[in-house]
Amino acid sequence: MINGALARLEHSFDTLRRFTADASHELRTPLTAIRSVGEIGLRERRSEADYREIVGSLLEEAERLTTLVDGLLMLSRADAGQIALRLVNADLRELAQEVVADFGVLAEEKHQRLVVDGETAVFASADRGTLRQALINLVDNAIKYSPDERTIVLRVVRRDSEAVIEVADDGPGIEPSHLPRIFDRFYRVDEARSRAAGGAGLGLSIARWAVEANGGRLTVESSPGRGSVFSIVLPALERSSKENGHRAG
Ligand code: ADP
Repeated sequence: MINGALARLEHSFDTLRRFTADASHELRTPLTAIRSVGEIGLRERRSEADYREIVGSLLEEAERLTTLVDGLLMLSRADAGQIALRLVNADLRELAQEVVADFGVLAEEKHQRLVVDGETAVFASADRGTLRQALINLVDNAIKYSPDERTIVLRVVRRDSEAVIEVADDGPGIEPSHLPRIFDRFYRVDEARSRAAGGAGLGLSIARWAVEANGGRLTVESSPGRGSVFSIVLPALERSSKENGHRAG
């Protein structure tokens, strides 16, 4: 019994050690970029256009740091059970429409179409904030990894006793050997490509946490060259009613 407890403790120390090492590595990358861009920028006198470009790339790296720190904070609050969930009877189609409205501009930049499809109203007991975060991360990935001019579909359906939001893209897809690891913290299939797209490798681990905290599961089906479908699956509710409880996540 004591051996079991010690082994578990050892395992959580290992996990923490790895997390700290990975997080430090991720933080160091944009910091190194900021330092070198700044140093090179100051080396000689430059035109205003050059300075503007330098300031632009400094801001881009700062933005990257912000995304990363936000993700790390979110995960550490989640690990500590500090995110209180307010469960309501959530209309998943409405949620999908909100996210599409917010991300339309980002998709437009790549001439992609972002559409909601499926049933008119599907309800689940969920905390809107965390569920929205999960959906945002999936839509953000679909936009980031799909080529220009593609269509991304958010399909809201009810399957037996389950309420499902699928985010489907016909982008590059993911090799089967990578699939089991994409939900791991900091894991990226193609580090350079994902980093260039602004990814910190935390999006899917946050999404999975958020869906599971709401009593659901996040699954993926994907094959290279054929695109990916990420599904948020929650226990369905019959119809809309008022708030139905609280849960600590
Ligand atoms: P990132 O911040 O790198 O996007 P995520 O945790 O959100 O991190 O995703 C992990 C990895 O899974 C990504 O780096 C990418 O390689 C892969 N991935 C996620 N979503 C998709 C998608 N829709 N299409 C193709 N690859 C994806």
